[in-house]
Amino acid sequence: MEKNIKLGISTCLLGENVRYDGGHKLDRFLTDTLGQYVEYVSVCPEVECGLPIPREAMHLEGDPDFPRLVTTHTKQDMTDRLVQWAWKRVKELEKEDLYGFIFKSNSPSSGMERVRVYIEKGMPIKKGIGMFARIFMEHFPLLPTEDEGRLHDPKLRENFIERIFTLKRWREGLVKKESRGNIVDFHTKHKLLILSHSPKRHQMMGKLVAKAKEIPLKDLYQQYQDILMEALKLKTTPKKNANVLMHIMGYFREELSSDEKKELLEVIENYKQEDIPLIVPITLINHYVRKYDQPYLKQQVYLNPHPLELQLRNHV
Ligand code: SF4
Repeated sequence: MEKNIKLGISTCLLGENVRYDGGHKLDRFLTDTLGQYVEYVSVCPEVECGLPIPREAMHLEGDPDFPRLVTTHTKQDMTDRLVQWAWKRVKELEKEDLYGFIFKSNSPSSGMERVRVYIEKGMPIKKGIGMFARIFMEHFPLLPTEDEGRLHDPKLRENFIERIFTLKRWREGLVKKESRGNIVDFHTKHKLLILSHSPKRHQMMGKLVAKAKEIPLKDLYQQYQDILMEALKLKTTPKKNANVLMHIMGYFREELSSDEKKELLEVIENYKQEDIPLIVPITLINHYVRKYDQPYLKQQVYLNPHPLELQLRNHV
């Protein structure tokens, strides 16, 4: 299989012995399952900035908004060393054309949120961002990012992967000659997917596309991409998905028998109550899309957003 999605990843998640204690944090879902579809670009901030393996453990301390990176026992301050290296590294990473980054949770260098910050008195506050993760996210604000801990949550996992595969389709469109027609085409195919994340952004994007002729092409692409990435960051919920499914059902008003309508309504309701996974109504709808050859729905990415093998819509 051709792997044309590159994702950055904290090196220890791939099973490499780069941690302070000489160990690793291999994550089998990332290596064995997601790894079939993506090529990883590994980054270990602590080793790449020149620290040895093993090394003294570190933590964040001081002001939770602007903490320092300090070794836990001998109190050596590694902040400047890591920050200087990180700015160089993100510049290099620009050339990799990444689609996102998977960080190691809780790490003072690589954690993307809720990293412990030790304050002078009292318990550490779980409000910090790892030194490298912060600089990466500042440098690439629109790129999807997650950590391996959050990716164990099926909903967050689905959201992350959906964003990556959408970004892939968007970038594939960018290699074609820029045109308003291409944006309209992309938008048409992604309408229901966007709606499942954010009805508000769906409306904004619809308005943007409708006045496409009045906006300089470069600005149109930029504005569309910004709202798209913002929209997909917002999680889908059973309620939002059920609305989209009901909307889809409207396309079969003429074709479905009353029994078929009843069955579909029941399945949507059961999904909304979180008794069955999303894959159930989607499979039934896909069956009707094929059976009745519904042209608009046939092209909707929402009905086939990412490889089935990832089993992303199988959770309740
Ligand atoms: S958490 Fe980050 S710095 Fe620590 S070993 Fe893993 S990749 Fe290296």
